[in-house]
Amino acid sequence: MEILNYINGEWTKPTVTEYFDVINPATGETIARTPLSSASDVDLAARVASDAFPAWRRTPVQDRVQYLFKLRDVMRANGDEIAKLITNEAGKTFDEAKAEMVRAYENVEMACGMPHLGKGEFVEDIATGIDELMIRQPVGVCATIAPFNFPGMIPFWYLPYALAAGNTYIVKPSEKVPMTMQFIFKLIEQVGFPKGVVNLVNGAKESVDAILDHPAIRAITFVGSTNVAKYIYSRGAANGKRVQAQGGAKNPVIVMPDADMNMATTIIADSAFGCAGQRCLAVSLAVTVGSARNEFTELICDAASSRKVGYGLEAGIQMGPLINQASKTRVEELIGIGSREGANLAVDGRGTVIKGFEKGSFVRPTVVAGVQKGSELWKTEVFGPVLGLMHVDTIEDAIALANSHVYGNQASLFTSSGAAARKFRHEVEAGNIGINIGVAAPMAFFPFSGWKDSFFGDMHGQSMDAVEFFTQKKVVVERWPKEWSRKF
Ligand code: NAD
Repeated sequence: MEILNYINGEWTKPTVTEYFDVINPATGETIARTPLSSASDVDLAARVASDAFPAWRRTPVQDRVQYLFKLRDVMRANGDEIAKLITNEAGKTFDEAKAEMVRAYENVEMACGMPHLGKGEFVEDIATGIDELMIRQPVGVCATIAPFNFPGMIPFWYLPYALAAGNTYIVKPSEKVPMTMQFIFKLIEQVGFPKGVVNLVNGAKESVDAILDHPAIRAITFVGSTNVAKYIYSRGAANGKRVQAQGGAKNPVIVMPDADMNMATTIIADSAFGCAGQRCLAVSLAVTVGSARNEFTELICDAASSRKVGYGLEAGIQMGPLINQASKTRVEELIGIGSREGANLAVDGRGTVIKGFEKGSFVRPTVVAGVQKGSELWKTEVFGPVLGLMHVDTIEDAIALANSHVYGNQASLFTSSGAAARKFRHEVEAGNIGINIGVAAPMAFFPFSGWKDSFFGDMHGQSMDAVEFFTQKKVVVERWPKEWSRKF
């Protein structure tokens, strides 16, 4: 597949000579090349989006959402094709890829409610003959900078809301996985949005920096690692833009002695090892409380060892490879550091070779017992199928341990006690909370809210937060003296 930019309704070759190889992480084959667009390519996209803004903004909202209804339909109709591309460039299994897209469709459906969601407020007679109203207006040209791990879903936490609210848009996918958005933009082309309303720019750091600095771009959303999120937030904000930046994670799960241990282990294994652990909501530290330790350890080690690993388009495969060889090396090194720091490699997934896929970047599920607070495996987001085990005596200790981490994306609890669940929900410091749930991913009608070093900004993605983020409020106070009505 040739990777191009889509600017002003045209497939455009960027003005570059530098490319990034896109590798199928299961086979090791090069399947595409991402052009690393320059600042002038971003400038072109920003200018056409700026030119398209006045007419799009004046298009009635009920007409704007008709494009989104069509987009939802063509995306659903091509769902298997999209999912295959996700498996081939990002490595996750076909079922995981299809599940990813369900949240994308749901966000488009949610944004179709903009005629209602974007309504303002009105109060008549705040004093006799004076009315006050609040109207929401679009902010202008907006952009999304996306990570590799959900190539189809993440831009849809934002794009449908922004367009429905009357903004124009630029998407910058991860250079590691450009094919999914390339195909989705072919569907966007079929929908027939007016020229310049929605644009695609492929690239890496240079194009991101150009987005952060471009005066016509008014709002930016970012999803990716914490160091880059901090950079995006500070540079974008310094340039006077609205910015929200979702970062990395190190999600704890607390397992109480009264948990249904079979259910807990199945769900926690899916959370830790699903998508090869490359989810920002993947559980990565399991903290057992009191007598939960032995049974949980035994069951989770069985679940890790029995997971079927391979190429995600083959039947029965439960876990695919990591995104690339560099990631495999990094994850294996972290497992090694864990072992050198004194933890016990209860299940060691290093050195995995899958027959027929010898060049794939596979690491089997790994369980590391006895992780200590402050160690590398405690601190670092592994972003691989590695679950660290820790143990404490009480739920208070477990919550204190969870809260002592710099990240706050998700925290989960497995218990059959309502009192424990309520205490946990109330005290734990994270934006997404799972009670007997391993991946507490909010539906499109709730915000996606990380805390602490997992998020920089104010409004989050999805739902009313996205409506707030992509609109600016204007408050109007009007006087209409009664005597004037006699003139009519
Ligand atoms: P990444 O930070 O390496 O890249 C994300 C985007 O930033 C890409 O588009 C990339 O081109 C760009 N980028 C990378 N380095 C840059 C730099 N120095 N300057 C400017 N732009 C740069 O992230 P990734 O590896 O693609 O994704 C994995 C990370 O994303 C993990 O940390 C994961 O936790 C996080 N993530 C978070 C959420 C969330 O909702 N909090 C969701 C998904 C992924």
